[in-house]
Amino acid sequence: MSQSENHPKNNQKSGGMSNQGDYKVRGVVLRRTKLGEQDLILTLLTDGAHQVRAVAKGARKPSSKLAGIANLGNEAEFLLHKGKSLDIITESTLLVSRSKVALEYERAAMTEAVLDIAYALTAEGECHELLLPLTTTVLDSIGTARLTLLPLIAAAYILKSSALQGYKPSFDVCVRCGANVELREDTSQGFSFLDGGVVCEDCCTSLDTLEPAPRLMWCKALLGMKFDAICALEQSPDEQDRGIDILTFARTWLTHYPGVNPKALTYLLEEGLF
Ligand SMILES: [Zn+2]
Repeated sequence: MSQSENHPKNNQKSGGMSNQGDYKVRGVVLRRTKLGEQDLILTLLTDGAHQVRAVAKGARKPSSKLAGIANLGNEAEFLLHKGKSLDIITESTLLVSRSKVALEYERAAMTEAVLDIAYALTAEGECHELLLPLTTTVLDSIGTARLTLLPLIAAAYILKSSALQGYKPSFDVCVRCGANVELREDTSQGFSFLDGGVVCEDCCTSLDTLEPAPRLMWCKALLGMKFDAICALEQSPDEQDRGIDILTFARTWLTHYPGVNPKALTYLLEEGLF
């Protein structure tokens, strides 16, 4: 399905249409911004392969039905009415509540970091149609995986989501000359954050970094693994440290090649909150 067919504006014939200019979307709440005394602007990652900003009227009144729906990470179905500048939520049905991650600091912080990454990656508006299912899957994993695995899960999300958005890192072909590069344990490998992947010995310059090959091997493996498989990895004593190492690498990747600034993740890593 093309982006234009998938755009909510062109989706007005779908079920639930009651008035001209109304449309239905399914989406995850990426961001909440206060508006006036009682309202919120919600930024949603939607099944229309699009980021949507919409006004949730009365969502800050505890008695409002929207108050329970408009929490970060929640997944809901919304009926939106096209407004002049911002669309307005007229109906909503909660599909998945992720409010209970707030009970555990690590899960809440990582959920926020992932939502912020999804927000930054889709800030231009358009996104791959698989980004929503990828994001709901990672949020489910963050809600249930053992805590020491959360950094590795977030790193996998960065690599997979940036690949979906057209920024797939190369771990086996030199990004300059196309030569095959074989990663070997106990070695270092030239890597270019600016050009998006490994560089062979002949192409490596002082502008490139030397990365321990096992770090790159992990990234390559994560790209090909489903979140279920990552959650099922056997526990190892160094898993949290290794996860943070790979997550730090993935953060650097995100800031250079896709060129987005994951503020919540940077805060989490710089403050040593894991
Ligand atoms: Zn090369």
